[in-house]
Formats: sequence, structure tokens, C-alpha cells
Amino acid sequence: MKPRDIVVIPGDGIGPEVTTAVQRILEKAGAPIEWQTYQAGLTALAEGSEVMPQETLDAIQHHGIALKGPCTTPVGKGFSSVNVQLRKRLNLYAAVRPVRSLPGVKTRFENVDLVIIRENTEGLYSGVENEVTPGVVMSMKVASETACTRIARWAFRYATHRQRKKITVLHKANIMKLTDGLFIRCAQQIHKQEYPNIEYNELIIDAGCMRIVQDPAPFDMLLLENLYGDVVSDLCAGLIGGLGAVPGANIGDEHAVFEAVHGSAPDIAGKGVANPLALLMSAVMMLNYIADQHSDAGARKIATQIRNAYDQTLEDGCKTRDLGGELGTDAFADAVIERLG
Ligand code: ATP
Repeated sequence: MKPRDIVVIPGDGIGPEVTTAVQRILEKAGAPIEWQTYQAGLTALAEGSEVMPQETLDAIQHHGIALKGPCTTPVGKGFSSVNVQLRKRLNLYAAVRPVRSLPGVKTRFENVDLVIIRENTEGLYSGVENEVTPGVVMSMKVASETACTRIARWAFRYATHRQRKKITVLHKANIMKLTDGLFIRCAQQIHKQEYPNIEYNELIIDAGCMRIVQDPAPFDMLLLENLYGDVVSDLCAGLIGGLGAVPGANIGDEHAVFEAVHGSAPDIAGKGVANPLALLMSAVMMLNYIADQHSDAGARKIATQIRNAYDQTLEDGCKTRDLGGELGTDAFADAVIERLG
């Protein structure tokens, strides 16, 4: 792998613990990464900066890639989500979240292998809310043809490159006829005009969720607008053992930020028990992204080495508590390092 500067944002809550563990594993795997540490979230506020400091955004723009720990979002009050701000300001319009069964982690279903593609810049997540009159508030759901077409094209292109067979759009266009109606029309058009070889279907999201939890096997890729993508990601995490095992990437045309699907988990922060696997898997996605974007075969080799190591670790029964094991964050990282080969 060619040496490379990468921005790292430790984040809040369990963020610093899992980030340190992942950096340690990447270093032991021989990834020649010069980490450029920047802050965001409550940690940035505590240091006297903004929650989303301009210098952090500038650094990602400059280096092109970041590995990010979770940032806490206050509920019902306070500043708007750092994660959402980052995705919007860097135009990281595609969230990619692979959900797959893990060796040694027993759940209700075997062989789950889904990829969720979430539109990352619009929908109710735009956070355009106002008080119409005391006691009456409203929230604006935004959908544009440009963003809906862009995410649909991105999803079909991903399906083609990764030899995926089918895309299912989950929507509520029976109720939200304009916004979700536009989302499915754009997807239909891209399917028909550009990718007719990929199978395509649509399900109303409530029925779709029921079908996924009954039997995920018929699903391959899910394409969703922003809020649905957020909710369905956690639902799918429940199929394979939980949030400790679902990675994610936020990708735009110029930059990419890799982060786990989970949040800052304040309930277990500082206890040394958080599972670093989801962020480690996100780091593997990052190495594969570098391999694709920069024709860096060395990055792919390290990604495969780490993936084999964590698969073997789980297969050997070395797991954190959320997955039914007993290891803490650092002990799990040590177990992966021992298996790097
Ligand atoms: P935030 O406000 O940052 O979204 P949250 O607590 O609302 O935080 P999550 O952080 O996603 O949401 O946590 C949801 C649940 O999953 C919590 O009980 C948390 O402890 C657990 N959890 C999340 N991530 C992990 C992890 N990496 N390892 C172990 N448990 C986790």
C-alpha cells in the first residue's frame, strides 16, 4: 500500500475507544497511514471550537478520506447533528451499509448478505423545521430530481460493479405521493434506461420491514431515502447481531468518510466494553475504496488480511459482550492482531 495521510475523527462517547483500537489494528497490519487527527462533536465543543469545525471539513477536503468515530446528537434540543452536517457540507450523498452474517455469531437467520444504500442529503433529515404557531410545528421533507436520480444511478452502478442481482426500493409513495413518488420514479427511470439487467422492485416500507424480519433471504440491495435508510439500517443490524457489527461509508464524488452505523453509545462509554468491529469493518471498506480509487493493490491486500483476521477471531469465539462474548474493546483488538498472520 502506498503511504497516505488520512483524517481521523475520534468523536464522542465510545468513539475514542473504538477508534484507538482500530488504528492499532491497522498499524499492526502494516497499513502505512499517517493519521491526521481532527475533532468534531461534543469533543470539539469542549475544546472551544464549533461542533463541526471548519478546519475538520477543510482537512477532509484536502486529504479526501476520513475515518470517523460517532458524534453525539442531542435529543429534542441543542445543535443539529454533526453527522448530518458533515454529510451535507461535503456532499457525501451515498451511504453504503453492508449487513452480513458473521462467523461464530448465532442469530435467527444464517447467510444474511444485504447492502443498504441510503440517500444522505435530503428527506426529512434536512432538518427544515419551524413553529407555525405555538403548539403547532412542522418539518419539511425535501426531495429533488437531481438527488433522487444521483443516488439511484449510484446504487445501480454499485450493483453492477459488485455483481449484485437485485435492488429493492422501500418507500411510502402511497401517502407521500410527491416526495416518495419522485424517489421511485427516478429509480424506475435509471433502471429502465441504464441498468435493465439488474432486477428491480419496490415495496411499501411498512410491509417491506415486516418481510425483511420474517425472511431477509430474498433481499439483496435496499435503496432508501434518508430517514428510511437510517431506521432500516438499525433494523437490519438486528438481523445479524446488532449495531456493533454494521459498518458504513458516506461517499461523494470527491470525498469519502467511513464510520460505523452505531452512535456514540453514552450508556457504555468509558467502560472499555464497546465493540470496535463496526468501525474496523468501516476501515476495511476504506482500504478497499483506496484500492479502487487509486489502483492500490496493496491496500486491497491489507483489507483482505484484516477481514480474514476478524472473521477468524469471531469463528474462534473471541467476541465482545454485545455479540455474546466476554472480551473488552482492547482484548478484542488484541485477538484480531494475533490472527493477522
Ligand atoms: P447517539 O445519541 O450517539 O445516537 P444512542 O445511544 O442513541 O447514541 P447508539 O449509540 O447507536 O445510540 O446505541 C444504541 C444501543 O446500542 C446502546 O445500548 C449501545 O450501548 C449499543 N451499542 C451501540 N454501538 C455499540 C458498540 N460498538 N458496541 C457495543 N454496543 C453498542
